[in-house]
Amino acid sequence: MGALSLRGVHKRFGAVSVIRGIDLEVNDGEFLVFVGPSGCGKSTLLRLIAGLEDFSEGDLFIDGQRANEVRPADRGTAMVFQSYALYPHMTVAENMGFALKMAGVPRAQREQQVQRAAEVLRISELLGRTPKELSGGQRQRVAIGRAIVRKPKVFLFDEPLSNLDAALRVNMRIELMRLHAELGTTMIYVTHDQVEAMTMGTRIAVFNGGRIEQLGAPLTLYEQPANEFVAGFLGAPR
Ligand code: ADP
Ligand code: MG
Repeated sequence: MGALSLRGVHKRFGAVSVIRGIDLEVNDGEFLVFVGPSGCGKSTLLRLIAGLEDFSEGDLFIDGQRANEVRPADRGTAMVFQSYALYPHMTVAENMGFALKMAGVPRAQREQQVQRAAEVLRISELLGRTPKELSGGQRQRVAIGRAIVRKPKVFLFDEPLSNLDAALRVNMRIELMRLHAELGTTMIYVTHDQVEAMTMGTRIAVFNGGRIEQLGAPLTLYEQPANEFVAGFLGAPR
């Protein structure tokens, strides 16, 4: 079993089926992209994995352990959203260390983990600033830093770059791929952007209407789309 498995997952909100039968094995250390049009269930599946929603049906395994009922903070997942609300009255260092503080990690160890994460993200010189003294890109790095200090088994990114301008987005894509190479941690990255999916993913899961239409390497999806939907969304022109 890989880093994370989903078996027979369904999610309903009232009478509406949003996730409609997903089975997925996420490999240890891979950068897996969930791509698909708006409303196809990408965020919902990520929230199920993070423990922010309950399963209607199906099972989640993280590191081989069934995790459906494990508290979000104890799952070994860390999520980064597109709207990364930092605590405005805290410095960057305090923002990054806050989850560790809540978890009772001693101050010295906290500071060490924050400094290490800041080095990886190249924001060491920003640790004393408050969020209003940062640019959009710097804030997003701090949000990623908050996830890194928790040393998660799996990072969950939900369209983390969509609030950034185009040039910065390209830059941050490269930074995230560098981060993945450096940390070697399993990452699941949600986007509705085909280019982002094709350039970042080790593998890509193409979502449509609460199901995965196809899962594979970018080139495989491009050259051998499983159906019309995948062909239209990602594939080579026919
Ligand atoms: P995506 O991230 O792919 O854009 P979402 O997972 O956010 O899609 O949403 C999938 C569908 O589920 C949408 O139709 C959305 O309106 C619906 N949905 C999401 N969350 C809720 C909720 N809490 N209650 C009711 N419907 C929801
Ligand atoms: Mg979404």
